[in-house]
Amino acid sequence: MSKKLTSRAENYSKWYNELVVEADLAENSAVRGCMVIKPYGFAIWEKMQAELDRMFKETGHQNAYFPLFVPKSLFEAEEKNAEGFAKECAVVTHYRLQNDPDKPGKLRVDPNAKLEEELVVRPTSEAIIWNTYKGWIQSYRDLPLLINQWANVVRWEMRTRLFLRTAEFLWQEGHTAHATKKEAIAEAELMNNVYATFAEKFMAIPVIQGLKTESERFAGADETYCIEALMQDGKALQAGTSHFLGQNFAKAFDVKFTSKEGKQEHVWATSWGVSTRLMGALIMTHSDDKGLVLPPNLAPNQVVIVPIYKTDEQLDAITEVVNGIIKDLRSKNISVKFDNRDTYRPGAKFAQHELQGVPLRIAIGSRDLENGTVELARRDTLTKEVVPLDGLVDKVEGLMTRIQEALFNKALDYRDNHITEVDSFEEFKKVLEEKGGFISAHWDGTTETEDKIKEITKATIRCMPLEGKLEKGVCVYTGATSERRVLFAKAY
Ligand code: AMP
Repeated sequence: MSKKLTSRAENYSKWYNELVVEADLAENSAVRGCMVIKPYGFAIWEKMQAELDRMFKETGHQNAYFPLFVPKSLFEAEEKNAEGFAKECAVVTHYRLQNDPDKPGKLRVDPNAKLEEELVVRPTSEAIIWNTYKGWIQSYRDLPLLINQWANVVRWEMRTRLFLRTAEFLWQEGHTAHATKKEAIAEAELMNNVYATFAEKFMAIPVIQGLKTESERFAGADETYCIEALMQDGKALQAGTSHFLGQNFAKAFDVKFTSKEGKQEHVWATSWGVSTRLMGALIMTHSDDKGLVLPPNLAPNQVVIVPIYKTDEQLDAITEVVNGIIKDLRSKNISVKFDNRDTYRPGAKFAQHELQGVPLRIAIGSRDLENGTVELARRDTLTKEVVPLDGLVDKVEGLMTRIQEALFNKALDYRDNHITEVDSFEEFKKVLEEKGGFISAHWDGTTETEDKIKEITKATIRCMPLEGKLEKGVCVYTGATSERRVLFAKAY
């Protein structure tokens, strides 16, 4: 059965790793940097997928699927994109193994099976998709093209962490084509908004929408929009990105359309993605020293019912009542599990469901049957109350909404208390060291200063927030004039 987790205060990163494994979300695999997502973790990811997929379709997008491999000549067509991802690419060079003549029982790459053209395992799919779009787009009537793909990608990351940064990860990538620059920018903004709404309303994670600086921008993009979240240890996490790609890919792959006026023009593009990193965001926003805390929207089981009994007769009587509760809860679309395993004691079950973040636990024993009550325990507040069986389902339904809101508000409070305006570099370093979180500071707009600050403090510019006042000032580092404050933080 589950062991006690290291506390967050003691060692945050150890707490995180233990939680992921102990709550049965994922584990490391035999492949360096690649994880196995276990059924419980995958069930949560599926909930995210279902809601995002619904939101994409509601905004006019369709799903399609493109190949895992990108021929090297296509990959290198958009130079900035290729250069940006080159360092992280896994490359397929051969298509066959054979028995090794020198080592019995071992296999080796067949030297005669070398690919004529090497294949890059997609780190992102712009190249293969834009090469395909060339055949799909001829006239303004073919636009806009609004496509999403659910897929895995590979980026050979050197320092990996379960969910947060893995070499192979699952994601969705939207790739859209438009007739005008204005439309493409509107699409990039729309999808960043979809991500923000999803994060806040569905995952109960408050996010800041902003633009990336040039050095943090997606390779090949003219502009990168993002949502940034703050984790409980004061570090930021990029939770999603939406790119305005200009005509860069259309030019690289020669994708043109005939406009209404009969002119040949290059197409405008966007791409946008969120990944299994969101699982990391979920864990590090809401969870506590006892384990995972799930917002009801993301819980595979929103309610668990644990019977407390000694004899089979008692269990039978409890089961009869529980069956009624289950039926009523399901009729309200509340997912519920009856944990009637006789191989574990109630205490062990409580501990497991706490560790796995089930939002609400109902315990019901023989005494409860006599009194017409049950015990309700909230995972988020760890509070318990005895409530009448009568009206239980309405009570649970109300609690689902309240817990979802409470988690968001708690995270929002924390986030808002961890945005600090500073006006000197001394203060910058002090706040970063002692408090963490986002630091709102003036910056002179140069990559040079951004790099210098990163080198000294390890903090990067997370984004230039879309909302908020534009006020002139002086750069905290160089003293040069600045048009606006930007948000710095140490980040995952
Ligand atoms: P990008 O294509 O670089 O804009 O990334 C798209 C999304 O994937 C963003 O939300 C990133 O935070 C996320 N992401 C990037 N690299 C990784 C990785 N190694 N593991 C998990 N998620 C990632």
